[in-house]
Amino acid sequence: MVVGDASLDIDTLVIGAGPGGYVAAIRAAQLGQKVLIVDKSELGGVCLNRGCIPSKALIAAAHQYESAQHGEAFGVTAENVKVDFAKTQEFKNSVVKKMTSGVTSLMKGNKIEVFNGECMFISDTEARVFNDHESPRYRFKHCIIATGSRPIELKPFPFGGRILSSTEALELPEIPKSMIVIGGGYIGAELGQMYSKFGTKVTIIEGMDTVLPGFDKDMTRLVAKNMAKTGIEIVTNAKAESAVQNDKEVTVKYSVGGEAKEVTAEYLLVTVGRRPNTDGELGLDLIGLELDERGLVKVDHQGRTNIPNIFAIGDIVPGLALAHKASYEGKIAAEAIAGHKSVVDYKVIPAVVFTDPECSSVGLTEKEAKDKGYKVKSGKFPFAGNGRAVSLNNAEGFVRIVANEENNLVLGAQIVGIEASNLIAELGLAIEMGATLEDIALTIHAHPTLGEIVMEAAELVEGHPIHVLK
Ligand SMILES: Cc1cc2nc3c(=O)[nH]c(=O)nc-3n(C[C@H](O)[C@H](O)[C@H](O)COP(=O)(O)OP(=O)(O)OC[C@H]3O[C@@H](n4cnc5c(N)ncnc54)[C@H](O)[C@@H]3O)c2cc1C
Repeated sequence: MVVGDASLDIDTLVIGAGPGGYVAAIRAAQLGQKVLIVDKSELGGVCLNRGCIPSKALIAAAHQYESAQHGEAFGVTAENVKVDFAKTQEFKNSVVKKMTSGVTSLMKGNKIEVFNGECMFISDTEARVFNDHESPRYRFKHCIIATGSRPIELKPFPFGGRILSSTEALELPEIPKSMIVIGGGYIGAELGQMYSKFGTKVTIIEGMDTVLPGFDKDMTRLVAKNMAKTGIEIVTNAKAESAVQNDKEVTVKYSVGGEAKEVTAEYLLVTVGRRPNTDGELGLDLIGLELDERGLVKVDHQGRTNIPNIFAIGDIVPGLALAHKASYEGKIAAEAIAGHKSVVDYKVIPAVVFTDPECSSVGLTEKEAKDKGYKVKSGKFPFAGNGRAVSLNNAEGFVRIVANEENNLVLGAQIVGIEASNLIAELGLAIEMGATLEDIALTIHAHPTLGEIVMEAAELVEGHPIHVLK
């Protein structure tokens, strides 16, 4: 470390340019702060480069392939439908490039200084940033740490060769013939189903009794049913124990109810969660930043750490590890630094999974609402009762609304079905605004749209549905 060299002065140092960091940097710049953002990798973080965006581009391509093959119901048939996976990867890379260059332009347009390199604290007001060419030292008034997370690596399944993390799974040059996925959470379920749609024989090994264990059973049942259609084998209540690989395949030993089993495939994808990037060279221990037992940074309702001028956001703080949560926290932290009274309110954080069918959830589930002591009423309106869903030949699923029986306030919602990812936004807004079932039911929704299902679900919970019998 070089000491005694001049420090450059900035108002706000943002470490990490993922959806938490780059959004925080923009908001801080909008509020008049002189901002430096540092990232040792690409702008956009995991989300744009190795997460949300590339996975959704590949999932879109898999859907396209499936629709091209299965248009019979519409009277559309096609022969010799082929996938050129190198082109699919090119498409995905081009999407990533468009999005990350967008972030570059936003940094430039907001006059945010960008440093491509690693960051290390010297004290609670100074940091050194360095790459192969330079290592300037910055003095900052405030800092927002947004260093994100990385895939958890389990001892029996070290990444390398035929054992992949989600990062390598997004980069495969060819469609694998077979793949084992350990962990049927949202990343494993999305990537496993994507490859299955491309023709890979997929086996998911999951420790709980269902894939997507965070969602209600009546939702995950539909996902599992659809996964079976493309031949995915889901092994639940299973414990993966070891893996042996050679240059062609990998064999995983696992047990179900004490019975030993094994499965062999071309690749093993391990998606068992993510670990916060709060260790390593960053020097959080040097400045005395407090972490919890899982290595997450302890923060208050503005994202402030135990060091008053240092904030933390995104995957390194407690809560769901999701991009939109990171961005939300980034805006709050930047506003808090500017002296605003902004605080986080986690009542409405949607969770969305891009499986087929998609799943989404916001606010409380029926069980959570009851556990919190609410008198609950709820109901689910089926996609099958909606003209748009039927005309898309995709009418499986439902919208469920959970409401407070005493005053009809919307407490939560869960959706499984086509476009569940987009439909959940209206229900998030309803909870955020304190809307009642009547507010949704009385809002005229255009016909024929999937949005009508939300309106009809509200009517159903009120007791007067039109397009299903009571
Ligand atoms: C396959 C996959 C699919 C996903 N899909 C979704 C989805 O559909 N929806 C969703 O909401 N979320 C999704 N996620 C999760 C989402 O990507 C993360 O929640 C989100 O990226 C977290 O944002 P962040 O800003 O906290 O950190 P990150 O995006 O992880 O960014 C952190 C940045 O910090 C940089 N950094 C770390 N340490 C240092 C250092 N010392 N110096 C300088 N720079 C440093 C890293 O290089 C990185 O660029 C997905 C994740 C994966 C892996």
